[in-house]
Amino acid sequence: MDNKTTDFQKVKYVVSSCLIGLNTRYDGGNKLCKPVLQLVKEGLAMPLCPEQAGGLTTPRPPAELVGGDGKEVLAGKARVITKQGKDVTHEFIAGALSMLSLARIIGAEKAILKSLSPSCGCGAIYDGTFSGNIVEGDGVTAALLKEAGLEVITEEELEND
Ligand code: SF4
Repeated sequence: MDNKTTDFQKVKYVVSSCLIGLNTRYDGGNKLCKPVLQLVKEGLAMPLCPEQAGGLTTPRPPAELVGGDGKEVLAGKARVITKQGKDVTHEFIAGALSMLSLARIIGAEKAILKSLSPSCGCGAIYDGTFSGNIVEGDGVTAALLKEAGLEVITEEELEND
């Protein structure tokens, strides 16, 4: 067994890039969460931004899920639409698949994802009207990781542990 394989065996989590201070958010900013950054420093977590991985630019127009949550997007029953009305469903699904691929490559069985994001949100997302209303549901990446059997939590749950 080579050293790289041994290193990956330490990794337990995939995490949202913006939570470790990378400026990957739609507005070009980040949402640094020091406990998540510490996990990366300790070699226990690897970051990815699914929206960037799906091919979207940074900054990028804000997007929300319309017609359902991430589970319905994956089932073809809902879409991801920007505030300007552009359909970015394909990019969101491609990014979610990249996050799942990363998790499988490194053997991560858990994810810590940014709350309320249309990709990373877990348990609560914006309602698709760009009015700040929050509804129950998962973002596209969170939904895909859950379907694949990963345990998904938000940074808020981690901080409350
Ligand atoms: Fe952060 Fe996820 Fe949004 Fe990327 S898609 S900026 S990782 S919340």
